[in-house]
Amino acid sequence: MTLFQKIIDKEIPADIIYEDDISLVFKDINPQAPTHLLIIPKKPIVKVADASEADKELLGHLMWVAGEVAREIGVEDAFRLVINNGAKAGQSVFHLHLHLLSGRSFSWPPG
Ligand code: AMP
Repeated sequence: MTLFQKIIDKEIPADIIYEDDISLVFKDINPQAPTHLLIIPKKPIVKVADASEADKELLGHLMWVAGEVAREIGVEDAFRLVINNGAKAGQSVFHLHLHLLSGRSFSWPPG
């Protein structure tokens, strides 16, 4: 069981700022920007490459939640979404998640 599953199950605490039937949003414990949120599905998908065609609506929902939460906290004009897919791309928790980063400038290409 991953750490994020334990957060979904409320077995370990997290600073949860949004929750619905499909998704959960909480603050990253090691923020890389003044605002750093993690948007996760409650369904335990390991990584984006493991999502199936049946997950298309769920994946879209996560993107919608990102925008909705960004509007709620007033960062809708400037934020970055990041998904690390696989250990070599920087993924360390193997439960699909979107990073929502805001509150500083971002370089391109990303590091
Ligand atoms: P990734 O490296 O893309 O898999 O991202 C995993 C993220 O989870 C990292 O940014 C960590 O700081 C974050 N993280 C790890 N443990 C916790 C926790 N208990 N609560 C909140 N965020 C966490």
